[in-house]
Amino acid sequence: MVKVSKFGGSSLADASQIKKVCDIILSDTDRKLVVVSAPGKRFKDDIKVTDLLIALADSYISGYDPDYDFNQVMDRYSEIASELNLDENIIKIINRDLSERCLMDKTNTGEFSDCLKAAGEDNCAKLIASYIQKLGHNAEYVNPGDAGLILTEEYGNAHVLPESYENLSVLYDPTVIKIIPGYFGYSKSGYIVTLPRGGSDVSGSIIAAAVSADLYENFTDVDSIFAVDPSLVKNPAPIIDLTYKEMRELSYAGFSVFHEEALTPVYYKGIPVNIKNTNNPSAPGTTIHADIDTENRNLVTGIAGSGGFSSIYIRKYLMNREIGFSRKVFQILEKEGIPYEHSPSGIDDISVVIREHYMPPEKEQRVCRRIKAELDVDDIVVTHGKALVMVVGERCLETPETFYRTAKALSDAGIIIRIINQGSSKVSIMFGMSEDYYEDAIRALYKEFFPD
Ligand code: ASP
Repeated sequence: MVKVSKFGGSSLADASQIKKVCDIILSDTDRKLVVVSAPGKRFKDDIKVTDLLIALADSYISGYDPDYDFNQVMDRYSEIASELNLDENIIKIINRDLSERCLMDKTNTGEFSDCLKAAGEDNCAKLIASYIQKLGHNAEYVNPGDAGLILTEEYGNAHVLPESYENLSVLYDPTVIKIIPGYFGYSKSGYIVTLPRGGSDVSGSIIAAAVSADLYENFTDVDSIFAVDPSLVKNPAPIIDLTYKEMRELSYAGFSVFHEEALTPVYYKGIPVNIKNTNNPSAPGTTIHADIDTENRNLVTGIAGSGGFSSIYIRKYLMNREIGFSRKVFQILEKEGIPYEHSPSGIDDISVVIREHYMPPEKEQRVCRRIKAELDVDDIVVTHGKALVMVVGERCLETPETFYRTAKALSDAGIIIRIINQGSSKVSIMFGMSEDYYEDAIRALYKEFFPD
């Protein structure tokens, strides 16, 4: 069995966490491909190594003295290395690596920042490989560039290029544990580029897809994904199994255990994903599957929601007769670089729901002016502070009961629903409401569908 195992920043925050990670790797001979993040927070107000590196890059770019930030990064690695009783040499290697990155040309700030940001995972991988070697096992650090992980040249927001899959397909070797840093790859012209924040999940998924792994394990700091955000409901029910579709909808609406983009590579290969806890590895965790036997399953798998949405309401008499009306609206949004999320429509009305941050005030004025002028509409109103709540489950549309119980729970909680969307997705019902109510809405829905 081929497993790709990814460990997040909290699993690598200090030497004792790294020891747990290495115990996990060595306890299963199927774990030969390991993807690591950079050391994360050791305690609540601690700073992740990636954030220290971002501060270091910013100091150089803004012309401040970089020594303090440089030492902060080096202190984290030195502390880990000394507690793991590693040879002095590894710290020399990391120090040299970081110093060389700092000497890089800074004209292209994106290129410079990405090169520094990538140092977090890159040096963490070297350190872990050297610790596993010290324990007497055959392990090696793998540079993502040497392995052929090629990304688009979009600094801080890169995407994988298709040739990477073939390049990486030969990575698996049953005789050696390969430690691969997550979060970055190389552009075609040879520059280091990083994925969006939290991107090591994506790196692990790309590698799992490339080697056609049997399982993609994602080790984090929770026992499982919960049916609802644990900051809203005490001791919520764990989700043991769910489908890609369910996971996608839940992460869209606010679940953040697993990076939203990380499902795509494994999804196309049908590779299951097992989310597990480094601090409690014997717990089964949550497994995401392509398909699931829905018999005996709860009607609802999870409930999620998030705020930060705006709605653009447009009214025009006889809108339904005007061919191409919505296309013109979306074209204006496209030109302004605003992605739309949903667009419920009536006979003479259409609302376009977008994420608030895509439309700052001056853009909003321009969009409204253009829609009014180019589409000759009767009315246009933009409302901010909207939230979306999703009730998610493969079985949820099997019976009218789900909608009835959902609407009743919300009504009993005194929540005014502004938008309803049932049927566009086969596995969810979506409600739009004011941001002021959505947390209460989530609690009311959880109580309805998870009474125990
Ligand atoms: N270390 C990076 C971050 O903090 C990437 C990751 O952890 O996946 O975003």
